Amino acid sequence: MTDTLQQTDLDWAKSWLAQDKKQYIDGEWVAGADKDWAVKNPATGEVLCKIALADTDQIETAAARANECHQSGVWSRKTTRKARADYLIAIARLIRDNAKQLALLESLANGKTYLEALNDDIYTCAEIFEYYAGWTDKFYGEVSPVDEGFLNFTSKDPVGVCALIAPWNYPLYQASLKIAPALAMGNTVVMKPSEYTPLATLYLFELIDRKMDLPKGLLNLVLCDGATANQLTLSANVHKVSFTGSTGVGRHIVQNSGQSNLKAVTLELGGKSPCIFFDDTKDLDAAIERAFYVMFSQKGEKCSEPTRFLIQKGIYDEVLEKLIAKAEAVTCGDPLLADTQQGAQCNEAQFKRILDYIEIGKSEAELVAGGHADTTGDNAKGLFVRPTIFSNVPETARIAQEEIFGPVLACAPFDTADDALRMANGTSYGLAAGIYTADVSLAHKMADRLDAGMVFVNRYGCYGLAAPFGGFKQSGWGKEMAIHSLSSYTRTKCTWIHYGE
Ligand code: NAD
Repeated sequence: MTDTLQQTDLDWAKSWLAQDKKQYIDGEWVAGADKDWAVKNPATGEVLCKIALADTDQIETAAARANECHQSGVWSRKTTRKARADYLIAIARLIRDNAKQLALLESLANGKTYLEALNDDIYTCAEIFEYYAGWTDKFYGEVSPVDEGFLNFTSKDPVGVCALIAPWNYPLYQASLKIAPALAMGNTVVMKPSEYTPLATLYLFELIDRKMDLPKGLLNLVLCDGATANQLTLSANVHKVSFTGSTGVGRHIVQNSGQSNLKAVTLELGGKSPCIFFDDTKDLDAAIERAFYVMFSQKGEKCSEPTRFLIQKGIYDEVLEKLIAKAEAVTCGDPLLADTQQGAQCNEAQFKRILDYIEIGKSEAELVAGGHADTTGDNAKGLFVRPTIFSNVPETARIAQEEIFGPVLACAPFDTADDALRMANGTSYGLAAGIYTADVSLAHKMADRLDAGMVFVNRYGCYGLAAPFGGFKQSGWGKEMAIHSLSSYTRTKCTWIHYGE
């Protein structure tokens, strides 16, 4: 699906950005009490808008109001499951009806192309709400086979107040992936988007507030930086944190849970995923096309992308040559133009981090494509990085071990399947892994032994709402999507009834 932008869309964004940006707490829009934060367009460097951030008192107030709403049962008990589903469908409709505006805001703040935002992100957000609307009355417990005189059953109760903390790479998509199952299972929500990319989420909350009649305190939105959001993970009013972001912050959140009320935590963290190409890969060109696309689309700011290509020696030179040609052909530039392939990196810190890793890579391996910022024409004003490829990257190199989160690919040759397995499993991450081979037995053996939460055979990067998403090792705890999200937003209660002989 494609769509194009008109001047009227840009005019709309300009006028929306000029309006005051507020926090949404207990059904009211309130000005943030902390410092101003400038949301910038990474493609141009211009300030899109300023937001008065929430302070820790406001964060705590949001959590307390969400808890009052939860305790009142207005959503978990007094709203029928059918009505809950209707609300989720209504949110999906709002997203579809305003997809253009939401995608534009996402692209402006994140730097991804408008078409990536529209087709990869925003339409999927609507699908997520539709998918979980179908689950409000289909996730339930069981009657257990206990002895005569007793009845034992389990029920799936809401957890309570869910603090949902999202990163900047897929802002509204990540928010939707958390809000929809949390609401479907009867929880209340405090949503915390990344300070770099809060715009589309803020606009969706405005639409929900304007068009729908939801209980006060059910859905709260706090706009703040990470240091202030720390309060959410310490608060006794919060019963669960669902976090997507860096491994370092994830670790800190676990510590805060332990030091406060032992709130439940799910974590979707970083990755350094391998894609293994065996000599017998069928339709090698299609395999390269797909793997290159998954690696470099969304300017390489994706957690599950294959940032390490492990290529068997017989096809190494051919694959590398084709990858280099593809990288050199990529057009970086204005994310709002339909023919731009790669937009701007999301923020200055990330841009610098990527360029720093490229310099590290130059001392560790052989640079064969890119390796610098793209400063052609107007790109000089923005945060553009050429698609970069390193060859013959040693297993222990930092660019083979550490997450860069940008358009930087590390390639290395291997001899045997055992070598490939050792290299693939040899990092602290375990989010995803890919295998290309025509040998079915080999594919099964590799899939079984790869230490990754998701394995893709002969097509890297398959995603579907009915399939779980999430990693092993330091890539996270628990799964999102599918029925797995429902488990993570519920508690299993076990009830015994003694009815006698
Ligand atoms: P980040 O960890 O810096 O921030 C993520 C979110 O946490 C932001 O909203 C931030 O403001 C907030 N935050 C920061 N410190 C906090 C604290 N002490 N308490 C509470 N909240 C805090 O990550 P990022 O730079 O926004 O995103 C990039 C990272 O996200 C990468 O490591 C990437 O791999 C990861 N990611 C993982 C997945 C996945 O599904 N596994 C998906 C997308 C991104």
